[in-house]
This record gives sequence, structure tokens and C-alpha cells, in this order.
Amino acid sequence: MISITQPKPFEEVLESISQDQKIYLVGCGTCTTTQHTGGKAEVLAMKEKLETAGKKVTGWMVIPTACDPLTQQALAVNTREIEAADSILAMPCSFGILTIALYTSKPVYPALDTIFIGKEQSPGNFTEACIQCGGCVLGKTATICPITRCAKSLFNGPCGGSINGKCEVNPNTPCGWQQIIDRLTAQGRLDQLDEIEPLKDWSTSLSGGPRQIILES
Ligand code: SF4
Ligand code: SF4
Repeated sequence: MISITQPKPFEEVLESISQDQKIYLVGCGTCTTTQHTGGKAEVLAMKEKLETAGKKVTGWMVIPTACDPLTQQALAVNTREIEAADSILAMPCSFGILTIALYTSKPVYPALDTIFIGKEQSPGNFTEACIQCGGCVLGKTATICPITRCAKSLFNGPCGGSINGKCEVNPNTPCGWQQIIDRLTAQGRLDQLDEIEPLKDWSTSLSGGPRQIILES
């Protein structure tokens, strides 16, 4: 599983750093390198675009795994160039950006949009897998997530619009509920769907501020 990212439009990036003249650039050697959105090549391309736009790039680096605590050491090694900058333009996913912000007082701006946590289905082909809803029903749905795999996130599907196993919302996408039924049928457990799934308690999801778990030692 990796964080899936896409570049923000360059105009949006420039707008976000419009108050700043000197920029330090940070990429990530893991997820965004794999996707060619924030690895060395993309960081150097961004450097060139910023300089063409009249900005001064005080330095750059690609942190091996930006969401790792070792990011603190990586930033410390480059203190001089970072301190010389007005802000940091970051090209890891949001987890990496949040980590960078823990270890610097400089403003940090994202150059990428983090769009989902994805599973690589085939080389270069990533599909959203889980939104961490806090109330997993995979045991009832043959290990196929009805929230991410069904375009309507139905808990009691299918909706009836599927045609030849494809979703009515997007004919290029397999119907998640057809997949659930096929897999339960193959497992001889289709009767699991006889029970109506009650309304989901979304309070376990993103409502009410950041979720937190404190492990007992
Ligand atoms: S039901 Fe919720 S926790 Fe389970 S895979 Fe889907 S989004 Fe993730
Ligand atoms: S066709 Fe299938 S995947 Fe699409 S919305 Fe209906 S049940 Fe969900």
C-alpha cells in the first residue's frame, strides 16, 4: 500500500508561495519517487520551473522516507540551506509533509495533492483500498471493501445498475458488489448477505476531530 499523489497545477503552487522569494525543496525517496511525482527528477524539474518563475532555490534534498522520524536528522543536516529559505516546498505525500512540519518552524507548502491510499494492482496501476472508516465490514463482504469499491459506498448492495459486471457510475470500473457476490458465491457463503447491514455508525470515521489510540504499555 502506498500514498497516491498527483502534482498540483504549477500556478496553484506558485500562488501558495507568492509571499516567498527563497524556497527550499524536499522530495521523498519512497511513495512519490515510485509514482514519479516527488522523486529526484521531479524535484529538479520543480527547481528549474521555480527559477524560471524568478524564485531562488536555496537547496533541495530527497528524504529516503519522508514520513519516517529520521526526517528530523535529514532536515538537521541541511539546516543552513533551510534557514536561508523563506519556506519549504514539499513533494512527499501528506504524511511526509506532516512529518517535515514537526521538525521545522519554516512554513511548509505541499506541491502535491494526496488523493488516496492505494494498492498496486499491476505495475503502475493503483486502486484505492481503504479509507480507514473505523468500522471494518470486510468479514461480511468477502474481503472487498464496499466503501471504496462501490461508487455509491453501499453497505447493502448491489444498487441494480450494474451491467455485465461493470459499475453504472463508471463503465470502466468493475462493480464492487458484483465482486462481493461472486467471491461469496465461490466461498459458498452468499447467505451472509441475507442479513441487512444496519446503518453505518460514521462516528468511528473522520467526524469529531483527529482519531487517537493510546496503547497501554
Ligand atoms: S470497510 Fe472501512 S476499514 Fe474496512 S476496508 Fe473498507 S474503508 Fe477500510
Ligand atoms: S453498479 Fe455496483 S459498484 Fe456501481 S454503484 Fe451500483 S452497486 Fe456500487
